[in-house]
Amino acid sequence: MQHYDVAIAGGGIMGCATAYFLAASPDFSGSVVVVERDPTYQSCSATRSLGGIRQQFTTPENIRMSMFGAEFARAADELLGVDGERCDVTFREQGYLMMASAHGAGTLRQNLDLQRRFGAAVEFFEDDALAERFPWLNPEGVGGAVFGHANEGWLDPNTLLTGFRRKARSLGVTFLKDEITQLDRTANTVTGFRMAEHGTIAAGVTVLAAGASAGAMAQTADVFLPVWPKKRYVYVFDCRDDLQHAPLTIDPGGVAFRPESGQYLGTVSPPEDEDPDSDPLDFEVDHAPWEDVIWPALAHRVPAFESVKVTGFWAGHYDFNVFDRNAILGPHPEITGLLFCNGFSGHGVQQAAAAGRAISELISFGEYRAIDLTRFGFERIAANTPVLETNVF
Ligand SMILES: Cc1cc2nc3c(=O)[nH]c(=O)nc-3n(C[C@H](O)[C@H](O)[C@H](O)COP(=O)(O)OP(=O)(O)OC[C@H]3O[C@@H](n4cnc5c(N)ncnc54)[C@H](O)[C@@H]3O)c2cc1C
Repeated sequence: MQHYDVAIAGGGIMGCATAYFLAASPDFSGSVVVVERDPTYQSCSATRSLGGIRQQFTTPENIRMSMFGAEFARAADELLGVDGERCDVTFREQGYLMMASAHGAGTLRQNLDLQRRFGAAVEFFEDDALAERFPWLNPEGVGGAVFGHANEGWLDPNTLLTGFRRKARSLGVTFLKDEITQLDRTANTVTGFRMAEHGTIAAGVTVLAAGASAGAMAQTADVFLPVWPKKRYVYVFDCRDDLQHAPLTIDPGGVAFRPESGQYLGTVSPPEDEDPDSDPLDFEVDHAPWEDVIWPALAHRVPAFESVKVTGFWAGHYDFNVFDRNAILGPHPEITGLLFCNGFSGHGVQQAAAAGRAISELISFGEYRAIDLTRFGFERIAANTPVLETNVF
């Protein structure tokens, strides 16, 4: 049996970020292994995401985590470069434009104070000012909008993920390709895990970083974790007019688009009662959301999008925390040897740096240092006290 001080179950963006922060920390000198079943990352959520980063949340922890994500993205080239090989995550700071109906505009405006208190660069627009600032947009039905003009935009999630991984490896972290079949638990302690090919790893601390499969993996140790895969679709489309300067734009109904390499990406999350758990390895694309919801909304909001052509599409899975759609971080109140890094529900790419740093702090110091993320602990689930974040899609 192999033994490591820290064994990370799942080597997606959370697993690799955690490994990087541990390996780069002067306060940690233990051994770390990351086990990932698919090092091509064809099937993980991060590489299928939109890579969006925004400060426009309604919970201090989310605002601060994403702001650190933006800060890290800007420094990634320097921090994650290895032997002259760069790590340019191509952070496009083109902003986020979040629109609300007349009914929701007051809430958008109310959240500005909180966001600004943490340094967010956000501005409120309505009526003529909105049309003047974004002349390509039809403001009909928009009661107000918030535009974040710094620290917001999108990056290339694949480069960030592989940058964390490459740097962690260069700093001594072991990476294994294998399928984890079972978390090992003795009484109230998780002691490591079993794998399909490499036998068993025993670990002082096991970090659960299995993304959309985390709930199922926790179940193998009789641990309840309310994180399940929820399928999402992304459609790539072409438009003759050039809107490549547009921010990541979210319509009042939740339909979102952003520019990507001369084309555009569009997506929407379904209503809660039409959003079943899915198989995390099912990537079949349904075209109805594009036809019925996304394209009609985009064509109304952006007249140039009345005439577009779909050129590609893919499916991916949110690592969806069905309890309150926020991260679940840190220890379980009754089970030792296990740390959660789960449930990011559609905002994990931007929070990976902050979450990886936070888990490494818990391992090194037994407490959070940079951002207090205690409220994102498992205790809230046991106590049935959700952390309400209204700006998640
Ligand atoms: C369509 C879409 C759009 C999104 N847009 C955004 C966005 O704009 N901004 C943003 O911040 N976030 C976005 N997200 C969310 C983001 O992708 C996730 O929150 C984030 O990737 C979660 O990171 P993770 O490391 O937990 O999961 P993953 O990135 O999925 O990594 C988990 C890893 O665990 C591995 N694994 C699972 N089970 C096992 C096992 N049994 N054995 C071994 N390995 C295993 C998987 O192979 C995978 O590589 C989006 C997601 C989707 C699907």
